[in-house]
Amino acid sequence: MDKMVILDSDGVINHVADDDVTTVGNWDPIGGSIEAINRLKKAGYLVTIATNQSGIARGLYSEQELQQMHLKMTKMLETRGASIDGIFYCPHGPEANCICRKPKPGLLFQIAKKYDIDLSQTPFVGDNISDVQAAKMANAKPVLVRTGKGEYVMQNFPEALDVPVYDDLAHFVRETLRRR
Ligand SMILES: [Mg+2]
Ligand SMILES: [Zn+2]
Repeated sequence: MDKMVILDSDGVINHVADDDVTTVGNWDPIGGSIEAINRLKKAGYLVTIATNQSGIARGLYSEQELQQMHLKMTKMLETRGASIDGIFYCPHGPEANCICRKPKPGLLFQIAKKYDIDLSQTPFVGDNISDVQAAKMANAKPVLVRTGKGEYVMQNFPEALDVPVYDDLAHFVRETLRRR
């Protein structure tokens, strides 16, 4: 069975924009995150992304603009010899009550089904409490990074207390590959 690491994007791979809306223009990788994905790929992990993109439902950006953002990210990765195996996103707003918007576990279930992986052996690295909750509900392994909203979440949510915390994605990957 394949090994996988699932990542949230905003606040984990790229910086959260000031107004919380990531666009093609302000997509800015967190230091070391692209290299970290590269290292995971070289070590034989599948790497996928599970992200809420309610900006689509809210009319802040189009599905096409989101695709361009993803293209920009995959190009940056490819020039560094890495890649993402799949990007899974929820385009709905909170009022849609869909099953894919985190903290619901739907995106993680979609990923597990498509790649036939064991979620109980799969870290889901996020910066928000909704990432932790989705990971717990899907019986995956929640991981928090201090980047993005991570520091705030650690200090304000009791549910985050039992979750392993790393400075950033690069730190998580370094420790994960060391422990193998
Ligand atoms: Mg995030
Ligand atoms: Zn959804």
